[in-house]
Amino acid sequence: MFEKSTWIRLPRNVVVGHGVIDRVVDVIDDLHLQGRPLFVTSPTPRKVAADPIAADFEAAGIDPAVVTVETASFDAVEDVIETAEAEEVSYLVGIGGGKAIDIAKMASHHLEMGFLSVPTAASHDGVISNRGSVPEGDTRHSVAAKPPLAVVADTEVLAQAPWELTTAGCADIISNYTAVMDWRLAKRLKDVEYSEYAAALSEMTAEILVGNADLVRPGLEESAWIVSKALMSSGVAMSIADSSRPASGAEHLFSHQLDRLAPGAALHGHQVGVGSIMTAYLHGGEDGIWRDIRNALSSIDAPTTADELGIDDETVIEALTTCHSIRDRYTILGDGMNERAARDVATKTGVID
Ligand SMILES: [Zn+2]
Repeated sequence: MFEKSTWIRLPRNVVVGHGVIDRVVDVIDDLHLQGRPLFVTSPTPRKVAADPIAADFEAAGIDPAVVTVETASFDAVEDVIETAEAEEVSYLVGIGGGKAIDIAKMASHHLEMGFLSVPTAASHDGVISNRGSVPEGDTRHSVAAKPPLAVVADTEVLAQAPWELTTAGCADIISNYTAVMDWRLAKRLKDVEYSEYAAALSEMTAEILVGNADLVRPGLEESAWIVSKALMSSGVAMSIADSSRPASGAEHLFSHQLDRLAPGAALHGHQVGVGSIMTAYLHGGEDGIWRDIRNALSSIDAPTTADELGIDDETVIEALTTCHSIRDRYTILGDGMNERAARDVATKTGVID
């Protein structure tokens, strides 16, 4: 008997391009959303995006409530939930980098309300995916939320974001190669849920990005176009899989551990990029694709060493030897690396001296 079923949730509208920030009200109309929105933003995105969007809403006779969040924390999520209830809003709009969008996503999940994602930086694939997480004490609080109802990514705005945010978004995409290797390994060894469509889409996304790496240059709006399309595609792969597996393997565990050991030292995408060089080596050995990953990262100006991340060698070793235990996700790290093995892979790949 055939008894499989799947439920794929995707955003209904994805609007990417020059000046599309002016279209948010049209998107709301298209979705037939009624009532008052709550904008969740942070200080800089408020000036460049949230205030102009608020003016468009007011011109259309809608009065948005606005909350500005300073840090990505569980308290910030609770604050947004309280504001949403007090202001009697009916949907949320996350406007900002990863932080504001993650918080809007998690609050909307709790409130059982829809939300829109308006990224102002192409810094990671959380802008479209159905996953959200914020630090909570020394762990991360994460939810399998719904994806946004719509994503509006204005390439003119994204191109004005600090350049390192764009290179971090690229590195997050390049790490899909090792995320998929880990997923296939876990399928073979542990028979985890696996989708060949999602895996192939995730790998193809990384390939297209690497193939267009010459067009990823500071000051080129086209860079923002390439990276945001790739982030959307990677987010769709996660929605198809109903899991972050297509875009998150051991390199993400490594990065989450660095977030705990050296908070704020480097950007998420940059950390996963460096992690991906090392886990590619663990998968394929000396002749594996780790050099291709390293070359792709350096061609777009993303860090490839601990030094470039601004993280000391010993912290890298500690993260490598402990990160397998932070969540129940089988990867090439298995039940953990010992210190000698960790030092060996980090040295051979040039991540540490
Ligand atoms: Zn990521």
